[in-house]
Amino acid sequence: MPIVTITRRVHFSAAHRLHDPALSDEENLRVFGPCSNPNYHGHNYELDVSVTGEVDPATGYVADLGTIKRLVEERVISCLDHKNLNLDVPAFADLNPTAENIVIVIWQMLQGGLPAKLEKLVLWETPQNYVEYRGE
Ligand SMILES: [Zn+2]
Repeated sequence: MPIVTITRRVHFSAAHRLHDPALSDEENLRVFGPCSNPNYHGHNYELDVSVTGEVDPATGYVADLGTIKRLVEERVISCLDHKNLNLDVPAFADLNPTAENIVIVIWQMLQGGLPAKLEKLVLWETPQNYVEYRGE
């Protein structure tokens, strides 16, 4: 059976601040740059959710992308969209909401119950910067 990876792109907007509470504001600015602004700032995130599986000979699908869209909206977008990641999302209470940590948290939110194997997440924080995670 041919194995194909399919991807659904979703979008969310969220505020965050990157900082280490053990460092001074000046040191945080040196390490995290403008993302350490104490009054927070926003990003428009794009998330690509890829799942892999056999192509069903009856439907020609690996999985129904509508089902994946619904699950991603329920489990991820409803928790992160238009939120302050530091203040509103318990996963980031003691975890710096870098793109790397956000993509790992999203992976945990999506584990189990998808109609095909979760293969890869790609999270764009800006049009220039993205991170990839395969669950390792
Ligand atoms: Zn930022």
